[in-house]
Amino acid sequence: MKHDPLVDFHCDVLSKLLGDESLSFDNDPTGKLDVTYERLAQAGGCIQAFAIYIPEHMERGLRPVLRSVDLFYRSILSHPGIKLICSARDINEAQQAGRIGALLTLEGVDGLQEDFSALRVLFHLGVRSIGLTWNHANWAADGVLEPRQGGLTGKGRRLVKLCNELGILLDVSHLTDKGFWELADLSSKPFIASHSNSRAICDHPRNLTDDQIRAIIAVDGRIGITFVPWFVRKSGEATVTDVIRHIENVCELGGASHLMLGSDYDGIDSHIAGLSHPGETPRLAEAMQPYYTDEQIAGFFGKNAIQFLESHLPSNSSHSI
Ligand SMILES: [Zn+2]
Repeated sequence: MKHDPLVDFHCDVLSKLLGDESLSFDNDPTGKLDVTYERLAQAGGCIQAFAIYIPEHMERGLRPVLRSVDLFYRSILSHPGIKLICSARDINEAQQAGRIGALLTLEGVDGLQEDFSALRVLFHLGVRSIGLTWNHANWAADGVLEPRQGGLTGKGRRLVKLCNELGILLDVSHLTDKGFWELADLSSKPFIASHSNSRAICDHPRNLTDDQIRAIIAVDGRIGITFVPWFVRKSGEATVTDVIRHIENVCELGGASHLMLGSDYDGIDSHIAGLSHPGETPRLAEAMQPYYTDEQIAGFFGKNAIQFLESHLPSNSSHSI
């Protein structure tokens, strides 16, 4: 079966590779990885975002961040079927060559330790999307589980401005509500929630309120529906049908062309039945067919994200690989 081009704005396979360098993205006989090249290719993978996420038990400095970048180059980009996406032109070239685009993202700026030259270095290395925090507070902002529920610090505000200038996308998925609204006010560019669902459907702080969804739609940002079972359904077993309820809520708020995917594969230790790795993602498209047009489904699975990236990534790479 031919699948629509698939874009997934969040996975944590790099973090798993960081924890165990014996694992292989090319070929994973251990079964420990969700995201492998083979599965992306099988699913019609077009662009996959790879998040740099440093687990809590590791040091907070730049070293594990740079190790993650090194792993991204050695373990992901070394595959001949993968191409680094830094610019709109790269997307086009990857598509022409039939290669899967790899987008490097950073989840939590803790490791930058207030160093703006480190941010620029990461940009030069290919980082094109940044979430200020993971779940806790850092020097830039408070994450969603931080008890004081603060917003952005002065330096966090500078970081937002610098990302706008460089052409790094801003991702609000782990921010507090206060941080969300401060970033929405401050950012001169549309922003994304790479892996968050609808709070009206599943009341979890990692999900977006209807007002937040409306605000993202108003600036022509993007919302990546995620497959984290506990962000999909509050109690009982989450199903593919429950995922569609989140999609429908965003559509009802006017966001059909603002939807995309942010699976969180490899960032979760339990999965929704039928959505446990990229090879299974097309099943969601099949389940959506009775309710949505082919065009809407194609938009949701890839075109909405590609259009956003083409509009908001720098037009040319500073380098290519
Ligand atoms: Zn996350």
